Amino acid sequence: MKKIWLSPPHMSGKELKYIQEAFDSNWIAPLGPNVDAFEEALAHYVGMNHSVALSSGTAALHLALIMADVGPGDIVICPTFTFAASANPIVYLKATPVFIDSENLTWNLCPDVLEEAIKHYIKKGKKPKAIIGVHIYGMPMQLTKILSLCEKYEITFIEDAAEALGSSYHGKKLGSFGQMSIISFNGNKIITTSGGGALFSNDPAIIKKAKFLASQAKDDAPHYQHSEIGYNYRLSNISAGIGRAQLEVIEERVKSRRLNFDFYKKELEKLPGISFQNEPSGFISNRWLTCILIDPKLSSGISPDKIRLHLETKNIESRPLWKPLHLQPVFKDAPYFGGNLAEKLFERGICLPSGSSLSKEDLLFICENIRDLLHKL
Ligand SMILES: *Cc1c(COP(=O)(O)O)cnc(C)c1O
Repeated sequence: MKKIWLSPPHMSGKELKYIQEAFDSNWIAPLGPNVDAFEEALAHYVGMNHSVALSSGTAALHLALIMADVGPGDIVICPTFTFAASANPIVYLKATPVFIDSENLTWNLCPDVLEEAIKHYIKKGKKPKAIIGVHIYGMPMQLTKILSLCEKYEITFIEDAAEALGSSYHGKKLGSFGQMSIISFNGNKIITTSGGGALFSNDPAIIKKAKFLASQAKDDAPHYQHSEIGYNYRLSNISAGIGRAQLEVIEERVKSRRLNFDFYKKELEKLPGISFQNEPSGFISNRWLTCILIDPKLSSGISPDKIRLHLETKNIESRPLWKPLHLQPVFKDAPYFGGNLAEKLFERGICLPSGSSLSKEDLLFICENIRDLLHKL
């Protein structure tokens, strides 16, 4: 039986051409023509003036927080409903992550709870140093409200668009809203370099500094001279070759993933208790992953776990939604603001196979198996 993965890599066929060029010119290094061309194409696509290609999205967030001057004891705000990589770099810098609940509309950072937390820390004389916002599963967060809070309280906004390349908010691409924004090219993301990420900004000084820090912070001298601690975070010219070819097909990838969502919605929407992550007007998701929620009161016995285990017997991979970070053992001491919405999403949700290379037959097979399970109960 063939395996249907949650979100496997999907090559376009042109990747090897750029890799071959790297070999032919012997640019087998963390810099070179593919890196330059990839950075330029990325910035152009996202709509930011500058970008730097990096070894991961996590590295990009780490550098963004350094550039936001985050250090020991600082407060950094982060949604609870996200992947741990959104928050880990806060801890690398010995700052304190403060987790915020989701709102119902987009499952992202709740603006009301966010403002409550900001006010709380200002009152204590500890204004948050930065706010990390995440567009979960590709769905835009409520940017207008969140950006206006960042402006009102003068707090740096870092946009974690790791899952959201190709999504847009009122016609503007995600990844272009932060003072700094990041995306990820990990193997499971909508496009991949096998592993990699990028940092964006409209401020050339930020990107210049990020490039400096990402390549071991070498001062301008003929010998190796260092006045700051550096990192080895640049993307290789080989990986950037993969990225160039992947970026050329991003619109097709978004289209395929959106079609997956439409297919699931049409097939499964009528089942009892099942609902989807809907797009408010002006919010366009790349539908990186299609997720369903199952209301235990209406579902006549099916649960996310039953679906996941049943699909597993058919060699179909599915996953629970993100477990809220404030419930993770490693973050158990971190402050949390909000109720139990993110927790409910985790309990009630499941991510279905969402790769852009899924066939109609695959999708039908998955939906039939979910329906079968319902009938058996
Ligand atoms: C994948 C991901 C990251 C980290 O990206 P890597 O390239 O895997 O380091 C950060 N934030 C979110 C929301 C992600 O999904």
